[in-house]
Amino acid sequence: MGTGKFITLKEVGPRDGFQMEKRFIPTEKKIEIINKLSHSGISKMQFTAFMHPKAIPNMADAEIVCRQIERVPGVVYQGLIANLKGYERAAAAGIEEVEFTLSATESHNINNVNATTEESFRRIEACLGLGAATRIVGGVAVAFGCPFEGRPPMQRLEWIVERFQNIGIREVTLADTAGVGDPKQVYEVFTHLMEKYPDAVFCFHPHNTHGTAVSNTLAAIKAGVTMIDASAAGLGGCPFSPGASGNLATEDLVDLLETMGCSTGIDLDTILEAGRMIQEVVGHSDSATLKAGKLASLTALKAQKQDNR
Ligand code: ZN
Repeated sequence: MGTGKFITLKEVGPRDGFQMEKRFIPTEKKIEIINKLSHSGISKMQFTAFMHPKAIPNMADAEIVCRQIERVPGVVYQGLIANLKGYERAAAAGIEEVEFTLSATESHNINNVNATTEESFRRIEACLGLGAATRIVGGVAVAFGCPFEGRPPMQRLEWIVERFQNIGIREVTLADTAGVGDPKQVYEVFTHLMEKYPDAVFCFHPHNTHGTAVSNTLAAIKAGVTMIDASAAGLGGCPFSPGASGNLATEDLVDLLETMGCSTGIDLDTILEAGRMIQEVVGHSDSATLKAGKLASLTALKAQKQDNR
């Protein structure tokens, strides 16, 4: 599965991770961490969300962060939105790309944004109708299981992916928001959808609530997915999925994938530095590499021993 494959890791820590923090993270700290991540070799970063500040207080400074971060060439800076207002704010702030998120189930969509899934699609159409330069990609929350409705049927996922394709949105992230997917399911869903919609570009967004995020990610990669969401220091959660734990730590995924012979284009040491900065600011992390060191250094040690024999 591994050798030679290039896997794009989309960094989502400054959004998925920071939005869950109860204490407000000072704007200058956010900027410092985003700038560090920008220099790690990543090619895409979801670094903020344009949501109502009452719903997501830690993203209240989205515009200031947009203005003050360093825009490193080669990095796509992405914001998360869920309505027209969010799109207008993102476009006014000069963001090149937004992920418009909706839910795979009606109940989660209603809970999250107070609209049906079809109404969310109409909102996306309204955003597209503005003709702004800000590109839209799709995000599907609870695609592998919803706290209210369980696992959405394949036909429902097909309908959503098709709806995105029909309005010209090729890139779609399927999120295991609550972290309740299993590897067999993840493999089957992606295999099926990739075969049915060969022009779509899929990304997988795992959460580790039940300890399955690594297995699910490898299952997605085995099915052919080449873009995975990850969060430096392993922060993250979902305000509308109680008990949901973090994303996979970007550093752990870089370490694992590169040990397996895949490449990510990301410098592990820079991500580790960012992870340490995050840990210092928020006071916690969920990162095997930060705790136990690099897996890659152990395999290098083994290879060196064999050479010396
Ligand atoms: Zn998430």
